[in-house]
Amino acid sequence: MTRRGAAADLAIRGGTVVTPDGRRELDVLIGGERIAALVPPDAALEGAAVIDARGCFVLPGMIDSHVHFMDPGDPRRESFPAGTAAAARQGVTTVIEHTHQWPVNTVARLRRKREHLRGRARVDYGLAAHVWPDRIGALGELWRAGAAYFKAFTCNTHGVPAIEGAALLELGRAVSALDAPCLVHCEDELITARNERRLRAAGRTGGVVVAQWRSREAERAAASAVADVARATGARFVVAHASSADVLDALAAARSAGSPVLAECCPQYLVLHESEAREQGALRKFTPPARIRDARDERRLWSAFNAGLIHHISSDHAPSTRRQKLAGDIWEAPFGLPGIDTTLPLMLDAALSNRTTLERVVEAYAAAPARAYGIAGKGRLEVGAIADVAVVDPAGVRELRDADVLSRAGWTPYAGMTVRGRVVHTLLRGAPVLEDGELVDEAPRGRFVPGAGYAAGDRGAARR
Ligand SMILES: [Zn+2]
Repeated sequence: MTRRGAAADLAIRGGTVVTPDGRRELDVLIGGERIAALVPPDAALEGAAVIDARGCFVLPGMIDSHVHFMDPGDPRRESFPAGTAAAARQGVTTVIEHTHQWPVNTVARLRRKREHLRGRARVDYGLAAHVWPDRIGALGELWRAGAAYFKAFTCNTHGVPAIEGAALLELGRAVSALDAPCLVHCEDELITARNERRLRAAGRTGGVVVAQWRSREAERAAASAVADVARATGARFVVAHASSADVLDALAAARSAGSPVLAECCPQYLVLHESEAREQGALRKFTPPARIRDARDERRLWSAFNAGLIHHISSDHAPSTRRQKLAGDIWEAPFGLPGIDTTLPLMLDAALSNRTTLERVVEAYAAAPARAYGIAGKGRLEVGAIADVAVVDPAGVRELRDADVLSRAGWTPYAGMTVRGRVVHTLLRGAPVLEDGELVDEAPRGRFVPGAGYAAGDRGAARR
């Protein structure tokens, strides 16, 4: 960078700006923390510092709305410093985090967590709160205290108790009254519990057991119930990690029938195959598991993504080290995959290889999560927006490697895959956190981003 001055503080020059609606060659002028102007490339420019983006795409900073950094919770698996370094490295400028081992289900715990995280994040972060079946009445105070969204499970998983039947209906009414978004992990408790009993009794321990335990039927049944309750109550339910085109089609049908339900998906469902669990065992244990069986499944998922049946993408980053994954048998191994290091690389590769478009990627991994979770001023490159930016060099092909993973996991299920494109610069609120592919050496300056209920007070109650 050269020439610091007054007209704009920083200019990103010569790149192609991508928004959900298209792409244009524009220079991005940044004043303070905001985008001051988007101007034709040869406009005269007075004395700003310059990032040379010739040959590059200029994208909004990505918003990963579903990550687990386990800090506090399980620091052997992940930490905020490591997880947010990986985010900054890959153009992600905002994350929404929650950790099941240290659930935020009271206002006191939300405050303690905010206190703990001060100075530990390289990118901005929101915090989701967990729904406990006997604490649905407390959601209003959590929402007003700044929770980004609520996370509920329809099955007993990761130590979080199931919300189903009458409790799900009560949850729908509660979040609808608050106008708060709620991310729901959808697997039917009765079906998964019955599958588990049967498979354990048969002494099954191979990697494929996960797909039979966490079955397609279990996910379909729970996702449909959640879509129905959304329709009945107006709840802004998001089905977490919808794993197959069948689930996405069912949710699209529910939306056509008037349900406000949205579908989240993650790269592991678009890229990994069900059969990998046979050889990889616990290294492919996550739930719902990968469902792709053949080229047709893969094509159906990408067309669902391109058609908008997938509302937004997240990593569902839930890392463990290889050693932690492989310590016991398949039943004991922790669920989850590391993902924050690879989500944008995989989506960029899909766009640069024409399985999708960059426009669709910035919609699904930036604009749409900003809308779903009410993250003001982020997710789009436009005048007045917060200057969170990812500059991407589309040239060249590289191999994804365990050695490049910044997450404490230290490995990736995509090691050995070759991808096109890479993030070269990341700006957080107008200043670089990644420069020429290197993390900027500075004290972490990520800020807490409160949810939409924080300043607005009890909007739901006022509306009723
Ligand atoms: Zn998750």
